[in-house]
Amino acid sequence: MIMDIQNLQQFYDLMFSTKSIREKIAGLYCKNQNIPPALTNSLKSALNALENIPKTDDKQILSLSNDKTILLNMGYEIEEIKKDIYFIEHSQKEFYLFLEKIHTDFFKQIQEGENLLKGIHFKNFITDRDGTINNYCGRYKSSIQSIYNSLFLTHFACQCADNSVILTSAPVKNIGLIDISINPKNIFIYAGSKGREYIDKHGIYNQMAIGEKEQNMLTLLNERLTSLVSRPEYAIFSLIGSGLQFKYGQTTISRQNIYSSISEEDSKNFLHVVKGIVDESDPQNKFFRIEDTGMDIEIILTLKNADTIKPLNTANLKAFDKGDGVQFLDSTLNLGIEKGPNLVCGDTKSDIPMVAVSMEKTKDTWSIFVTEDKELQKEVLDICPRSFYVSEPDILVSLLNNLSI
Ligand SMILES: [Mg+2]
Repeated sequence: MIMDIQNLQQFYDLMFSTKSIREKIAGLYCKNQNIPPALTNSLKSALNALENIPKTDDKQILSLSNDKTILLNMGYEIEEIKKDIYFIEHSQKEFYLFLEKIHTDFFKQIQEGENLLKGIHFKNFITDRDGTINNYCGRYKSSIQSIYNSLFLTHFACQCADNSVILTSAPVKNIGLIDISINPKNIFIYAGSKGREYIDKHGIYNQMAIGEKEQNMLTLLNERLTSLVSRPEYAIFSLIGSGLQFKYGQTTISRQNIYSSISEEDSKNFLHVVKGIVDESDPQNKFFRIEDTGMDIEIILTLKNADTIKPLNTANLKAFDKGDGVQFLDSTLNLGIEKGPNLVCGDTKSDIPMVAVSMEKTKDTWSIFVTEDKELQKEVLDICPRSFYVSEPDILVSLLNNLSI
């Protein structure tokens, strides 16, 4: 393990090393075995390395290959390792008291949730990841799942649900959901790209059908973007924010992050370079459409032919939402959503279609949203009368853990 973290790549390498350590520890917990102190010490070393990175205010400073530096808020990475170490070295009761100090009304919210949901065995547990069952992290690549988080979710998945699906808009593999998750095998279905691709409980990958020509175009474009960000002057764009993500029918490349780490000029210049590559790959603009959010450049395969791909309610990929993803998973994996009861969890507007699809299939649907936004709460409640809200992902996973006891 590199202890002297100076650049961004070393930071990601360190975080990936914590993934394998955490995976081992979570595995030992599942088998009821003792945790060797050497493993805990590895986590402590990683924490030490992160805390030793030079800081200004609340941001760490790392160097980039081209003599520039970048400022990052490593709150997620540092706090989650601290929690994991505390979790390993204390009882669950003490760990809950530790969380209570961080989160207002921790026990009160859990108790309210238990009063509603205790004793229900769910046919399906379908949940968003970031901001819902996982604390929010500014960088997808380093948002490694914590040990306590994995154990709490695994308890619930094993005890309280037939199918447990984690559904996110990020890709499922090649720096996707499975690369940052540490859960034991054969428990969760991992669905990426809003549910258009997934890895089932047996580790088998599957995706919605896509035209061969379209896929080849996208593959070629992805190769060109990969070689672009392998050049030192552009490497930074694969390392910030969403980085370079190959989703189903869509590629994302960041040009800025929420900390504005990139200068306005460099960011605009990079957008221009990426647009140039897309134009060269697709001179007649038949295959790709670009959406620029200011942070991310989304390059979307435009599929006008509804026979090529059937996103169920539309011939256009853009309108595909997580509800369509749930439909697709239900039809290919025989989830039996119509049977219920189902528990659907989310934290933003884009998660509501998952609740809506479950409600269309059965009224025996419950939903928990991690939000204090009254408008969002009302929107969920209007669709699903059995809705409940908590303020933090930690509270949701602790509640799920308690329901499994
Ligand atoms: Mg979310």
